[in-house]
Amino acid sequence: MHYENTLDFARQQDAQDMLRSFRGQFIFPKHNAHDVLYFCGNSLGLQPKTVRQALLNELDHWATHGVEGHFRGELPWMYYHKFLTPQTARLVGALPHEVVVMNTLTVNLHLAMVSFYRPTPQRFKIIMEAGAFPSDQYAVESQVRWHGFDPEQAIVEIAPAPGSDTLRTEDIVQIIENEGSTTALVMFGGVNYYTGQFYDLEKIAAAAHRVGAHVGFDLAHAAGNVPLRLHDWNADFAVWCSYKYLNSGPGGPAGLFVHEKHGNNPALPRFAGWWGHDEDERFKMQKGFKPMRGAEGWQLSNAQIFSFAAHKASLDLFDAAGMDNLREKSLRLTGFLEWVLCEANRDKNLFRIITPTSPDDRGCQLSLLTDGRGKALFNYLSDNGAVADWREPNVIRFAPAPLYNSFEDVWRLGRLIGGFKG
Ligand SMILES: *Cc1c(COP(=O)(O)O)cnc(C)c1O
Repeated sequence: MHYENTLDFARQQDAQDMLRSFRGQFIFPKHNAHDVLYFCGNSLGLQPKTVRQALLNELDHWATHGVEGHFRGELPWMYYHKFLTPQTARLVGALPHEVVVMNTLTVNLHLAMVSFYRPTPQRFKIIMEAGAFPSDQYAVESQVRWHGFDPEQAIVEIAPAPGSDTLRTEDIVQIIENEGSTTALVMFGGVNYYTGQFYDLEKIAAAAHRVGAHVGFDLAHAAGNVPLRLHDWNADFAVWCSYKYLNSGPGGPAGLFVHEKHGNNPALPRFAGWWGHDEDERFKMQKGFKPMRGAEGWQLSNAQIFSFAAHKASLDLFDAAGMDNLREKSLRLTGFLEWVLCEANRDKNLFRIITPTSPDDRGCQLSLLTDGRGKALFNYLSDNGAVADWREPNVIRFAPAPLYNSFEDVWRLGRLIGGFKG
């Protein structure tokens, strides 16, 4: 791909962008009466304009129908989670009965581990990436303790080799093979929140299964960012949230994937609630839990309609753009960002990009490891209307979201950094 660090080039790319109309469907915060340069979709995606009406519709539905709202209208609340299923399945590469929207991410991670982390004295270890998002670390540690094991012995963390910022697939596979039959679960992020590395999930899943372990993925930074094929990759389970790349608003609902080879096994241990119970008998209010087939059988509670409505509005937009088209644009947009950042950094040596250089090994996020001037650079960007985020101890993350970011945004960011006098 050929790039030029000019406004003309950026505008030409935007003019050719098939997805350019989607930008107009989002609300950008303002800085000095201008749209900010928003590069923080990896933390909280922007608000789609359709969300407000979707929420108002549900308020009206409630006002008009009261309790009957559960059964009336185009989107009866009783079945609301199902209205999110087809888009969700396409997004993560699953069969429709393998996915369900429910709860929030860490809750779903725990529920999945209840079913898929079943340690025995011989097979009790969890293998994960070192430096995983803290909630995942706490969830894993507390699950291990809950089963009476010592996290020191039971959790195996895979760290980058000395002098490296990211993991090599060969090393991940080797460690899984070395731990062998002591491994109960391999639990990996899809895209690491800190480095932006996109792991080879198919190879990790295959290695886990070769040693007889289950494999689960946290796709918080992968869903809506990179193409996923959860069914074909043979993941046992996966979880993700909807407020990052999926633009569904703060605290938005999360997803759960359970592979069909497990989803129809009612004997699989789980924590149960009435919404996971056989739909045809749910209101008979009888004893004896009988799970729904598929991922729906892991639901606990009835749907949180307002956050689901925002999620639906956002997912519909995502679905209209299509993940393959988004990825195609994302590869070019992030490539352009990398080029522009390197140009801006050429004489300054302010940072080093720690995200893998190979596009296959990353999504849209680039992480910059900064030196002592990093915080000053970050503050300078904020003061000048660019929204990125800072991750301790010294990383700045930029994520150009292909659904609403433009090549011009990227060019402007590069120019801004070029003007930093740190
Ligand atoms: C954002 C994120 C979370 C957040 O969890 P919530 O339960 O939604 O608060 C967890 N894990 C990872 C990897 C994340 O990136």
